[in-house]
Amino acid sequence: MQLDQDTIAAVATAQGYGGIGVIRLSGPQAKSIAVAIAGFEPKPRQAHYCSFLAETTEVLDQGLLLFFPNPHSFTGEDVLELQGHGGPVILDMLLQRCLELGARQARPGEFSERAFLNGKLDLAQAEAIADLIEASSKQAARNAVQSLQGAFSRQVHLLVEQLIQLRMYVEGAIDFPEEEIDFLNDGQILGRLEHLEQDLDQLLQQAGQGALLRDGMTIAIAGRPNAGKSSLLNALARRDVAIVTEIAGTTRDVLHERIQIEGMPLHILDTAGLRVTQDRVEQIGIQRAVSAIQEADRILLVVDSSKEADADLHELWREFFDQDPDPKRITLIRNKVDLSGEPEGLELNEAGYTILRMAARDSVGIDTLCQHLKACMGYQPGLEMGFSARRRHLEALRRAATLLQQGREHLLYTEAGELLAEDLRLTQQILGEITGSFSSDELLGRIFSSFCIGK
Ligand code: GDP
Ligand code: ZN
Repeated sequence: MQLDQDTIAAVATAQGYGGIGVIRLSGPQAKSIAVAIAGFEPKPRQAHYCSFLAETTEVLDQGLLLFFPNPHSFTGEDVLELQGHGGPVILDMLLQRCLELGARQARPGEFSERAFLNGKLDLAQAEAIADLIEASSKQAARNAVQSLQGAFSRQVHLLVEQLIQLRMYVEGAIDFPEEEIDFLNDGQILGRLEHLEQDLDQLLQQAGQGALLRDGMTIAIAGRPNAGKSSLLNALARRDVAIVTEIAGTTRDVLHERIQIEGMPLHILDTAGLRVTQDRVEQIGIQRAVSAIQEADRILLVVDSSKEADADLHELWREFFDQDPDPKRITLIRNKVDLSGEPEGLELNEAGYTILRMAARDSVGIDTLCQHLKACMGYQPGLEMGFSARRRHLEALRRAATLLQQGREHLLYTEAGELLAEDLRLTQQILGEITGSFSSDELLGRIFSSFCIGK
């Protein structure tokens, strides 16, 4: 991706009304635009309190003007900030003035993109800006700040450093066979490779925790009509989100609710009860339920413990999903223990299913359920002070881990140094995608276009 020479401008503060509103500009014309708007040449990095002038010298607004000459600015280019009053009309007038003076409207994420292209931030740091702004909990915000300050990137760099050392060693051995380095018996290579794999694995765990805090997990509540699914949603949300009635078939569409368990975002879906029905609207609701359940990270399968045995559930599942319920994705909720008299609590049965006995209507067992969901998310208390990470980063780390493992197998079973060397080269490239030292225009476009304008 190439930097263009345009000067870009955007309202950097949120839409709507506010005490102040900021317009940010970046590019070679920032200074001349400042002179035209203020009527004087601004001193670098000083706050000038002044009038913002229209072409007619009519005063548009008054406020603070800040000029940051390149390269000491957020984008690495000349940057101008106009801090005026935060109303949509006045900010729009000021922005129009900047556009008349030669700037163009910035695309989403274009300031961050320029900062990245000018080497002010790496890609993981640029993503952390967006994650910080969009953080849904305090812990997620703390993690994003850590990533912004380079905590994640540093770990990736350390891995890349190790990898480069190992590559030099391996490639040296290939290029100078007369030195007769015996790959297999050279404990050095295997030792370093294993060390690298361990470090990568540790980073993967930390990044997984970071991604969890950022993205959370989607949980679908499923079961027959009247099992107590909507009651369970309400109990988890700790408010009345869904309509609860004794009439079967009340919940017809998929209901969404976002909750947090100790800072971790959970996306809970209440779905229509699964049953065979002639009601056309209910049928559509059930189709939607089935696809929501298939896509969820975890399923809470609810039964009325006063009426149904676990065996009925297997039958239900086979009917709608053509397979047995997967104990790795499903928690069986035996609801309404107040009616059945079953003791409340969590249990793992012989078939490997986690069974939770509770009474959703009265929130009995909700804390146990929350603890259980936390465990399902792979939440590790010792690891919580981390950094933010995205699924993209996790995927890259996983691909890198697979390649290293493949490299080790190539070394052990084929003694082929060339194959190992190629695996290591690709691993380095994949790790480089995280920080952006290897990146395609397509990847950059995808990342920055998801940012908001002015970021
Ligand atoms: P859904 O159709 O699966 O969403 O079920 P609802 O949440 O709408 O509940 C159906 C009926 O069961 C309602 O009358 C609820 O009050 C009742 N119910 C839900 N949970 C419990 C429970 O734990 N104990 C008892 N006794 N009744 C419950
Ligand atoms: Zn319901």
